[in-house]
Amino acid sequence: MPEGDTIYRAARALQKAIGGRVVTGFETGLAKLTRVNDDAPLVGRVVEKVESRGKWCLVYFSGDLILVTHMLMSGSWHLYRAGERWQMGRGRMRVVIRTADWEAVAFNVPIAEFHTARSLERSSQVPKLGPDILSDEFTVEGGVARLDAYGRENPEAEIAVVLLNQRVLAGLGNVYKSEVAFAAEVNPFRAMRTITQREMEKMVEVAQRYMKANVADGVSSVKGGEGIVTYSGNRRTTHAMDREERLWVYKRQGQECRRCGATVMMRKQGVQARSTYWCPECQPWVGEGDAPVGRGKIGG
Ligand SMILES: [Zn+2]
Repeated sequence: MPEGDTIYRAARALQKAIGGRVVTGFETGLAKLTRVNDDAPLVGRVVEKVESRGKWCLVYFSGDLILVTHMLMSGSWHLYRAGERWQMGRGRMRVVIRTADWEAVAFNVPIAEFHTARSLERSSQVPKLGPDILSDEFTVEGGVARLDAYGRENPEAEIAVVLLNQRVLAGLGNVYKSEVAFAAEVNPFRAMRTITQREMEKMVEVAQRYMKANVADGVSSVKGGEGIVTYSGNRRTTHAMDREERLWVYKRQGQECRRCGATVMMRKQGVQARSTYWCPECQPWVGEGDAPVGRGKIGG
């Protein structure tokens, strides 16, 4: 049975292969989808993005058309090079999206439907994204209310995993997750029930400030978080900044904390096993049991 992280990886692979590409072919074994494709053909549209929301996979096409699939127990998305032999029979094929180089094939998906942005917004089935930290309407109070509500329902959830959950707050990726927790002096492995209102305010405020500053610097579109700056060092220095000198803790395991000199740690966290970086001194452990330990050496 595919878990949320499997769908997440599938969506990421689809995005990499067919994201930004023009659809050159579309096939489906589902009558409902065929009707939409007859009226408003998929061929010629661009795959704008592919994203996962929990166990749902969403493929956005240009012209306000979104293919929404749910895997339930049996479904899966496969990627094949054009002309490559499929690993499942045609009888199990439900959807094929072709581009010049790839065929994305959904097998056995029990739920597949087309939406517009509006109908998706109205759908009660597909989980919603949280408020976008970069939107003009976003406020620190509103962001804290989201974190607080989620924490009440999921008191044992770890804060850094929650910061990455796009249904709580949309926008933070893996770089910001560690940087925001560091700046707010919150140990990333702490359970939501131990996080104070003041700490939530600090995290949301820092998240908004860092993201806005990086958008202003024009780095938000850089792939994979490259170019994000949270630490600007000694502003009087005349040396040009190295890439490594731009972040507090991200990818700095084994190096000295810029604030206190302790060794920065790294540990995989959550079902998606994303790397989390932190300073055990600046971000003290609060909770039962021993403080989580991590690797303090690159590759060690
Ligand atoms: Zn420190």
